[in-house]
Amino acid sequence: MTRGLPSFTLERPTDLRSAALMLAEPGACALGGGTDLLPNLRRGIGAPATLVDLNGVPEISGLVREPDGTMVIGAATTVQALAEDADLARALPALAEAARAVAASGHRSAATVGGNLCQDTRCVFYNQSDWWRCANGYCLKHRGSTCHVAPQGDRCHAAFCSDLAPVLLAAGARVQLCGADGQRSLGLQEMYLDDGAAHLVLRPGELLAQVRVPPLPAQLRIGYAKARTRGGVDFPLAAVAVAMQVERGHLVSLRIGISGTNSLPVLVDAGAELQGAPADEAAWKKVQQLVQRQLAPMRSTVTSAQYRRDAAGALLARLLRQLAG
Ligand SMILES: Cc1cc2nc3c(=O)[nH]c(=O)nc-3n(C[C@H](O)[C@H](O)[C@H](O)COP(=O)(O)OP(=O)(O)OC[C@H]3O[C@@H](n4cnc5c(N)ncnc54)[C@H](O)[C@@H]3O)c2cc1C
Ligand code: SF4
Repeated sequence: MTRGLPSFTLERPTDLRSAALMLAEPGACALGGGTDLLPNLRRGIGAPATLVDLNGVPEISGLVREPDGTMVIGAATTVQALAEDADLARALPALAEAARAVAASGHRSAATVGGNLCQDTRCVFYNQSDWWRCANGYCLKHRGSTCHVAPQGDRCHAAFCSDLAPVLLAAGARVQLCGADGQRSLGLQEMYLDDGAAHLVLRPGELLAQVRVPPLPAQLRIGYAKARTRGGVDFPLAAVAVAMQVERGHLVSLRIGISGTNSLPVLVDAGAELQGAPADEAAWKKVQQLVQRQLAPMRSTVTSAQYRRDAAGALLARLLRQLAG
């Protein structure tokens, strides 16, 4: 059983500076499409005093291509706009494909890129109604003292399940964060921490303003694949993106992004270890070993941890062969 939304004040800023100032107030929380946040609030997870709706801030809405080819994606751009953008479909089709794989069409038309990258981590013991969690003594992540997934441990292992993050990581995207005190730029990977209860480095009041995808070499091939329980609407059990550049049969670069398995999206720069190696089955075996060492799925979904590990490995193997072939 879910309950109604808690009381809050809704702010609708129309410029970025005002949004940052509103978010700097105690108890304020950013609102994109609300497709992740509002179900959690209905379940009694969090009770912000103010929601700051970012959808009316033009500086962070839409896609723009800069003269050097950098693609700038405003955080308030909807996932549907990403899925339908003709320029993006040409420049980075894997990102459009990942956008089409987010939830269902009703969610995508409201969901934003910022909300997708900042969405909460998920766990079968946490994404439940208040009475369900109460009956289990809550858990370490919210109101409780024990993690039901790893009771001996002192951290949360909830999984980060964004579909967009793997492709953006593989493509080397950076993010622009904006707070009342100014802006800063980070590599996308640097925005995350390996802790399911606090997986973002955003400071209080800071918001994700833009995602910047650098110009990509013409020879770079990027692929994306997702395993989920229900094809029509579901979070990834594993979502994998591979960005590979091969010249004369040898690897020039190879970056892999994965979500659904860990508390943060995993980035593996296999190109650093395998640069110049022949792009063949022996290399793919090494890549699989490198990646599997980084994956840490836990018993936080109804699907077993081993299944998610195997699914990530199978999707990775398929993508490596497809892109090299
Ligand atoms: C049934 C269902 C299925 C789903 N399936 C998928 C799926 O397959 N793949 C997937 O990736 N997601 C899925 N989701 C999760 C969610 O719908 C998407 O991740 C969506 O993109 C979230 O965006 P939003 O704008 O709605 O986020 P919101 O709900 O508005 O916000 C999510 C979180 O991000 C914060 N936030 C929002 N914007 C910003 C910003 N600019 N800066 C800083 N913080 C911000 C909010 O404060 C909140 O904590 C699913 C959700 C549901 C309910
Ligand atoms: S992993 Fe543990 S602490 Fe985290 S949400 Fe699940 S049960 Fe709670």
